[in-house]
Amino acid sequence: MPALSMPGVQTHCPYCSLQCGMRLTRSGRALEVQAWEEFPVNEGALCRKGWTAAGLRGHRERLTTPLLREVREDGSRGELRPASWEEALGFVTDRLSALRSAHGADAIGVFGGGGLTNEKAYQLGKLARVAIGTSQIDYNGRWCMSSAASAGSRALGMDRGLPFPLADVEETDVLVLAGSNLAETMPPAARHLDRLRERGGTVVVVDPRRTPTADRADLLLQPVPGTDLALALGVLHLLVAAGAVDEEYVAARTIGFDAVRRSVAPWWPERVERVTGIEAEQVRALADLLARTTARGGRVLVLTARGVEQHSQGSDTVLAWMYVALALGQPGRRGAGYGCLTGQGNGQGGREHGQKADQLPGYRMIDDPEARAHVARVWGVDPDSLPGKGRSAYELLDALGTETGPRALLVFGSNIVVSAPNATHVTERLAALDLLVVADMVLSETAAMADVVLPVTQWAEETGTMTNLEGRVILRQAAVTPPEGVRSDLDVIAALAAGMASPVEFATDPEEVFAELARASSGGKADYAGIDYSRIREEHGVFWPCPEVGHPGTPRLFADSFAHPDGRARFLVTDHRGAAEQPDAEYPLHLTTGRVLGQYQSGAQTRRIKDLPDDGPFVEMHPMLARRLGTTDGEPVSVRTRRGSMRAPARVVETIRPDTVFVPFHWVGANRLTNDALDPASRMPEFKVCAAEVTA
Ligand code: SF4
Repeated sequence: MPALSMPGVQTHCPYCSLQCGMRLTRSGRALEVQAWEEFPVNEGALCRKGWTAAGLRGHRERLTTPLLREVREDGSRGELRPASWEEALGFVTDRLSALRSAHGADAIGVFGGGGLTNEKAYQLGKLARVAIGTSQIDYNGRWCMSSAASAGSRALGMDRGLPFPLADVEETDVLVLAGSNLAETMPPAARHLDRLRERGGTVVVVDPRRTPTADRADLLLQPVPGTDLALALGVLHLLVAAGAVDEEYVAARTIGFDAVRRSVAPWWPERVERVTGIEAEQVRALADLLARTTARGGRVLVLTARGVEQHSQGSDTVLAWMYVALALGQPGRRGAGYGCLTGQGNGQGGREHGQKADQLPGYRMIDDPEARAHVARVWGVDPDSLPGKGRSAYELLDALGTETGPRALLVFGSNIVVSAPNATHVTERLAALDLLVVADMVLSETAAMADVVLPVTQWAEETGTMTNLEGRVILRQAAVTPPEGVRSDLDVIAALAAGMASPVEFATDPEEVFAELARASSGGKADYAGIDYSRIREEHGVFWPCPEVGHPGTPRLFADSFAHPDGRARFLVTDHRGAAEQPDAEYPLHLTTGRVLGQYQSGAQTRRIKDLPDDGPFVEMHPMLARRLGTTDGEPVSVRTRRGSMRAPARVVETIRPDTVFVPFHWVGANRLTNDALDPASRMPEFKVCAAEVTA
């Protein structure tokens, strides 16, 4: 472990995909977070969550011993009681082995998280496929940016959130932020918007709510939730009509535009207004701005995030926004093109190394014989022994405890009870399992349901790599030793593998695991072969692909070609279908969900940090709606959808559409309401819109 003397250990925040650099120093027994100005992504700035990240260390709710659920004399489930590691791990592997013998390996499911380090994600995929032999593995990153991933793979041939360093954003002339509230979700990134505007650039925000990000915008478009695709198609329609398409670029670097050109003909501005609620003049204003900017050689950059991606047509919506950038000839130019702002800390790396149902390490597809042969060679097993593609995250949870679904589930780094869509149903499925095992540092809502809870290390107690929203592989370094009784996830995974009679051994040292991961990724799209820990330390991170030692890494992609074999981007025809659930007489409003400044994801960590505000959930609504409901600010209201209900105080604001209510998802409740309709390509659930009724 690096010495903890001044200037402290250089590491990164435990939360979002910005992975802000920070220094950790000791002050007496306490751990202090300090600025690390030299790290280029955040230049020393942190949000409140980052500054208070050490607050979980020594927390009274920290788990330091495994917990095992008692079985009462009548066979019913009793309380969780402390157990030794030997007893807990022995119990788990005995039960898993028995289930595998009786029902086959697919009777065991594995559920990972987008906050796990690359090393943990890699070992979890290997645990599932080599030690257990199950195809049933997926992770909560499926609910983060899978729609952008699917669109990027289809259109550009590669899925990397930002194909350029974040600071390039400052160099654009027009930035279109579709469905991102980065001023609240990753505040240090908002500096790039401010600098862009100081340079004379223009910011356009597309969001049903006027968020703090939208307060920085020159143009705000507030669509009806679930209609972003129609807006993007309408902008494309106007660009075609205005002759603003960069025909030379489109002919030289893309395939399929003529079909898309024809397909957007019916999306004239007045029709877009009818569908999206955005005035036709505003749609024209955006298209005019883009056309004028590119006509004078200016740069346009479109960034999408969860607001447009977490929909049953999320991947098509991302495609349409990519097409706006491609039609204008932008991708490949510095400070221009398209990018996606990832959400979770390792949302990017988490899906590159094997915890996604259809992928092997290096972003290799599991049904590709060459990919299987390569990874099997690194793992020292027969390619034919590797299972095929499994169920996506929601489909996996939906199948738990059914005749054909898994009977046991191992959960690492995810609080499903709070974060899954249609959460009441998912909780029922978890309760139907023969065995639920959760590795966590606190008794999260999901851990509280488990048969076995395994206490694991947290950030600052362990070393490992993360891949931030730019595709920059960074190193989180341990700064303190973990409390007695706690083991690292890598130790736990290795012990489970051994207990399941794995044909190969599992390393537990993160640097050793990373070296194996780099070999497994070699030749894949997310190629880490030239990256090692010392390089990351010296260079403030290394951008993948980095295919060999000495390679400089790849901060910017697509300058000359896209990642399809012929180097050309693909235009595919998409059309607006609308949200899976539309308001009606019984459920007359749109419900949308999202984050607040002081909390992170399911809140398992941030809700326990006393210096972060925790006012609980609320129901944000427009004054016109509040008047109609006969309620006022702070009064409790009920929200009901076809899946469940919750009660929380009304928050009355002018900044939201009158036909829409917003509920933050960091607490139990919001996801009891959300819709589990899935995007056909990405299998992303429709978190961002459903029909709701609100009553006082
Ligand atoms: Fe941490 Fe994200 Fe805040 Fe940076 S912006 S301090 S990474 S939560």
